Amino acid sequence: MKKLALLLIVPLMFTCCTPKEEQVDVKMDYTLDWRTDHLHVFLTYTPTEVDSVTLHYGDISYGGQADIFSCVKNFESEDCRIVTDSAAREVKLYYEGTPVVKLEYDMEYDLEDENLNCPRELFRPNTDKDFLYVQGLNLYLHEKGRNRYNMRVSWLTKPDFPTFCMYNEDGSMEPHTGPQSDFYYKFILGDRELLVDSFELNGTTNYMVTAPRQLVDFNREDIRRFFTDVYTGYEKFWNDTIDYSFTLVMYPFEKIRHDVTGLGLGHAFLCRYNHYADTILTKNRATTVAHEIGHNWISGEQWFGEGFNDLQTWYILTATGLRTIDDYVAEVNDYMAKLHKSKIRNLPNDQISDNFWKLGDYSWIIYWRGAIYGYRLLGQLEAATGDPHIFKTLMTTLGKEHTLGMNREYFIETVSQFMDRDVLETQFEKYIINAETMDLTKTPTLSGSVIKYDKNGAPQIYITDREVFARHFVLE
Ligand SMILES: [Zn+2]
Repeated sequence: MKKLALLLIVPLMFTCCTPKEEQVDVKMDYTLDWRTDHLHVFLTYTPTEVDSVTLHYGDISYGGQADIFSCVKNFESEDCRIVTDSAAREVKLYYEGTPVVKLEYDMEYDLEDENLNCPRELFRPNTDKDFLYVQGLNLYLHEKGRNRYNMRVSWLTKPDFPTFCMYNEDGSMEPHTGPQSDFYYKFILGDRELLVDSFELNGTTNYMVTAPRQLVDFNREDIRRFFTDVYTGYEKFWNDTIDYSFTLVMYPFEKIRHDVTGLGLGHAFLCRYNHYADTILTKNRATTVAHEIGHNWISGEQWFGEGFNDLQTWYILTATGLRTIDDYVAEVNDYMAKLHKSKIRNLPNDQISDNFWKLGDYSWIIYWRGAIYGYRLLGQLEAATGDPHIFKTLMTTLGKEHTLGMNREYFIETVSQFMDRDVLETQFEKYIINAETMDLTKTPTLSGSVIKYDKNGAPQIYITDREVFARHFVLE
């Protein structure tokens, strides 16, 4: 699933030895009160505008949900007159001067049974007497166009079942104060079966959150081991030590039976999956988790952030020994076949993002195209440099400070030290921007393999020398 662009975190200024609660100017002070099957929200708000203000709720680009405003209701205040506009997702407050305004509302939503689709369950709150699932932007109101203000969130009553809150990972009831970005793209999860494991990696505490439903406990250990192996594999590959905490949440869908999807939320991955299987960590889900961890190093324009991150994911899984070179080839071949088969394979790049929420091929083609373009390029670069470790060389030459926010200009500039710039630019324009069909048999491909067209006309990799092909996969 698309990784979300995160807002810049505003650094907070604290003076030494002073508790932060007293130092921070809080514009939105929220208190959450769990009431049997929904959240009641108390907001103490200090407006900037004189006499009236418009507060906004939700984000239409987040799951493409025009009716998201139905998740909040029963707005009340003794300090101001309230007019809500559900179509615009707005709450207008009328008052005199710039008083401190107290406002209350309910956040409550039962997912529908009919026509529920994957983005709807992923991006929509869900509350019941047994669970609570909500992301900040579907819980808190905000001043449109302003995000550099501070918020505080406290609990009056927590649910009687376990909860995990991305800004209070240890499960404490302590109020949390911070910039709006601390809350907006973070979620609160509560479930009768919720299990929160913490474990150390490089001296930082990481969190793994699951609700295994009918599954037995061994999955928990499997996920932790997988997470650790993949994580340390990436660190070796990049010669890098991650010094912040990472949270992996594997939370089953309640209603839909979609194999796996999720949201990258900064230093966390919220993975949703269909729990009607005998393991949480199926091969497909494991790949998805590894892909999301890979976003700690690769992000930016989607052809790179998603496509090259997929190449990286398969590479790391192979180089760590968790998968074989045949698995790697099968993943690339699967993408080649899917791109070849897609009716929209020649739809230019800029028209893809406009149609993203139509889903299907629209949400996947950028992954397919970016990864295959990258794979094709690796063959050319290996031929030009004679370096069998060209993927590692390319990534480390690009450098983490750029691979985390890659753009076309920097990519062309840097890669042109390995091959002719005109050829590189022309191919980028043809294959990524204009989405022309890539010819994969006329350029060199990675040593130890060939590419041929199969009976359906899709290009496919065939390993010709296993030893030579296996040389490409190194961590250090
Ligand atoms: Zn991604």
